Amino acid sequence: MTPPQMQTLSLADGRDVSVSIRRSARARRILLHVGVYDGKVEIVLPPGASAIEGLGFASTQTGWVADQLSRIRTAVPFANGSVFPLLGEEIAIRLVPGHPATPALCGRDLCVGGRADTLGGRVRRWTRNQALEEIKPRAHRMASEIGKTPARISIRDTRSRWGSCSRVGNLNFSWRLVMAPEWVLNYVVAHEVAHLQELNHSDRFWAVVDRLNPDSKPARKWLRANGADLHRYGRGTRPGN
Ligand SMILES: [Zn+2]
Repeated sequence: MTPPQMQTLSLADGRDVSVSIRRSARARRILLHVGVYDGKVEIVLPPGASAIEGLGFASTQTGWVADQLSRIRTAVPFANGSVFPLLGEEIAIRLVPGHPATPALCGRDLCVGGRADTLGGRVRRWTRNQALEEIKPRAHRMASEIGKTPARISIRDTRSRWGSCSRVGNLNFSWRLVMAPEWVLNYVVAHEVAHLQELNHSDRFWAVVDRLNPDSKPARKWLRANGADLHRYGRGTRPGN
C-alpha cells in the first residue's frame, strides 16, 4: 500500500477539511469515508481511478461530509474530573492524593491515587474488569437456565459488535457494555448466551432470548440510539498505562 496522499476539500459552509486519498485493489468504486470517532475524511480509489476523479466525487458529497462531521461526538478521556456512566449511572473520576493506585468506588465517585499521567490506563483496566465481573455471573446464570455452559468468557475492545459467540461456545463482549444501563447489558448477555443454543438469528433463537430476557426491544432500541455514545469514553487513553 502506498502512503495516502493529502488534499483539501472545501465544504459548503466555507470550511476546508483535509482529505487523504488511498488506493484499494478491492474497491469496486470510489468510496468516501468519514471516521466516526476522529473525523478523518478519506477517499478510497478503485484500480484505474485517478485522484482527480476521487476529489471530483468528494466535491459532490460535501453536504454529506459536513453532516457527518457535525455528528462526531467529543471524546471523554479517563482523567481527573471526567464523568462516565457505569451501568447507566454517572460516576466522576476523582484523583485523591494518598489513595491506592487501584481505583475504587467511593460513593458516586471513582477514587484513584497515584500519578495523574497514568490514571487513565488504570481507570480503563478497572472498568474493563468491572465489565467482566458484571457479565460473567450473568452469562453463567443465563446459560444454566438453558442447560448450557459457556466455554470461555472474554472482554474485548470491539468497535463493531457488542458481543459474539463462537462455534465452540466462547462468548466475547465489549468492555464498553458495562457503561450501558443494566437492562441493556442483560439483553446483550442474553443474546450471546442464546447463541449457545441457536447459532443463528432464527425465530427459535429469538424465543430463547425472550426466555432469558423478556422484552428485549427497548434494549435493542437503546443500543441503536446510544451505542455510539459509549465509544466516546476512555478515548485518548493509552491502554498500556
Ligand atoms: Zn447474534
